[in-house]
Amino acid sequence: MAMRASPPLMLLDLLKADGIALRDGDKQKIGRCPRCGAPDGLIVTLSNERWVFTCQRCHPKRGDAIDYLRWMHGLSFREACEVIGQPALLEALHEAMAWREALEARVLRWAREMPPQVARYLDGRGINAALRARYRIGYNPEAFQVAGRWQVTRGITIPIYQGETLAALVIRRRADDIAREGGGKYAVVEAGARVAFDAEGLRSRPVVLFCASEFDAMLAAAHAPQSLACACLRNASAAELANLAGGRRALAAFPVEGEARIEQVALPEGYDITDFYQRAGARALRGWLMAITIARPGATNEATILAWLREHGYTPQKRGHHIVAVRASSASQRD
Ligand SMILES: [Zn+2]
Repeated sequence: MAMRASPPLMLLDLLKADGIALRDGDKQKIGRCPRCGAPDGLIVTLSNERWVFTCQRCHPKRGDAIDYLRWMHGLSFREACEVIGQPALLEALHEAMAWREALEARVLRWAREMPPQVARYLDGRGINAALRARYRIGYNPEAFQVAGRWQVTRGITIPIYQGETLAALVIRRRADDIAREGGGKYAVVEAGARVAFDAEGLRSRPVVLFCASEFDAMLAAAHAPQSLACACLRNASAAELANLAGGRRALAAFPVEGEARIEQVALPEGYDITDFYQRAGARALRGWLMAITIARPGATNEATILAWLREHGYTPQKRGHHIVAVRASSASQRD
């Protein structure tokens, strides 16, 4: 049984644990801001018997211990509350910092030094140079370990950020490594909480499409209308996805069982979004994304998708709850 032997962590405990030096005053402490580096930027004051912080340059609003964890460590509100309540979690937080230090610079170097054959492979999947740069896609040529604990395999690297903070690294493994070592196509290296790709894009958009892989999500995002966010959270349950959607209309481009809050949308062709793009082209992908975004839930959704399919040369058929489509003519509509 878990016991809470120690009192909740306070702001000063957190600053100390992060090694932030403060010059003392009675009711005010001053130090270098750990985020923006402003020399005397960080000001910690006692207000109503509670320590609060500001940074003149990058955090003018007063923050408490929970705000500090969110600002400094990229935690969600809920995660920050957990750390405050259980000081043992602070150790995990510092492990995560070590993890980030080891990987953040490498991620950028891998993106700069992508071998041409990997770039060509990604071009073929619709992940062109602009998308690679935007999402800092790279290639790790050599397996290694971080802190004797995290195994980082070879392969195409897809960093996942929470704000500006690296939160996880997804690696598309090499075929020869998979043949030799077994295991799945993708490896996930994460330090702490699971973060969705691209959680940031979700924020300002009313509709979200959950995709089966990060590459699918990037490709869809590149061709999606403004109001559609495209996200991916590996190994997530249907309920987790629905919670992530946070009240937005949520669509999934892969089978999602037993979750009424998520509408499963069938692809007109192919087994995933990348495969659909490779078979039918960018124009077809754009049209389909538009159709699923503007469609209203339920029957209207279905009607809109059916109409769109017919218009684009497919013969739609219903199979159970899903719409499947066959291409009416062999004439390709690639562009
Ligand atoms: Zn600052």
